Amino acid sequence: TKREQRNSVRAFSDDLRTAADLRLALETEMRKALEQGEFELFYQPVIEYPHGGILGAEALIRWRHPKRGLLAPGEFIPLAEECGLIVEIGEWGLKTACAQMAYWIRNGVAPDAVAVNLSGISFRHVRLLAAVRNALAGSGLPPERLELEMTESVLMSDVELTNEILAELKRMGVRLMVDDFGTGYSSLAYLKRFPIDVLKIDRSFVQDLAREGSDAAITSAVMAMAQELGLDVVAEGVETEAQALALARRGCKAMQGFLYSRPVPSQQFIAWCGQWLNG
Ligand code: C2E
Ligand code: CA
Ligand code: CA
Ligand code: CA
Repeated sequence: TKREQRNSVRAFSDDLRTAADLRLALETEMRKALEQGEFELFYQPVIEYPHGGILGAEALIRWRHPKRGLLAPGEFIPLAEECGLIVEIGEWGLKTACAQMAYWIRNGVAPDAVAVNLSGISFRHVRLLAAVRNALAGSGLPPERLELEMTESVLMSDVELTNEILAELKRMGVRLMVDDFGTGYSSLAYLKRFPIDVLKIDRSFVQDLAREGSDAAITSAVMAMAQELGLDVVAEGVETEAQALALARRGCKAMQGFLYSRPVPSQQFIAWCGQWLNG
């Protein structure tokens, strides 16, 4: 959003004069960061309630900045989108997540799937299909173990093109997810047309779920619709046992959130999985 962009500009504006200088400096810095391996993927598990199976891991990007420390995506993704570097960062993310997942599978401890976030620019870029194909071929990862997350607003912005891209991706065998579901103005008719596999209920709905009220009603409606359309549902931002229970009561069994784990570096993630499954 505009506000996120302004905030990220401000975060980098200490010693720079104009917005143009700033953008150029940042772009150079991000390009260098990509070459020097300063980007890193953190992973957050998706847990099956109540049995505790590890259904997935969402890859969430971080920038280990040599001077500014660990930067969250909100601090640099908007600018990367603005200068176009998001395409390369996105390709790096796809390749890295697939390689990581293939490595986990070879080592015998792996979630069912790894999920990668795609920005709107990456999603519509001519190189997307090749990037996905290359990431799969390069890692040997079976396509059904890769999930791609696109927000509702990205999918809705040009539904004809969206449908073509989704159809190609579906043909490759990857799983397709709608991120932040419920925050956009989604048309149920299009949802039915898109070859989508999973809806991720936005955490804003999960937040107030333990109290009965409109969020509970929305979640129930989403679950009913998902069942009708044959879609899986993942709840995001699950922080309390009460929220997990409220979701489970409405038929949502896949949970992601701080209740289980924050997003953590790959080593820590796989250590967490070992403990979670054995303890
Ligand atoms: P998102 O895809 O909706 O990711 C979920 C965000 O919610 C993550 O923030 C995660 O750390 C946070 N979260 C997870 N569980 C909880 C919880 O229980 N409570 C609360 N309050 N928050 C929780 P993060 O990692 O800062 O990522 C922010 C956004 O940046 C993501 O939102 C996604 O849109 C974007 N992003 C992250 N990684 C990538 C990437 O590799 N490529 C692209 N294009 N975008 C990315
Ligand atoms: Ca996501
Ligand atoms: Ca989300
Ligand atoms: Ca989001």
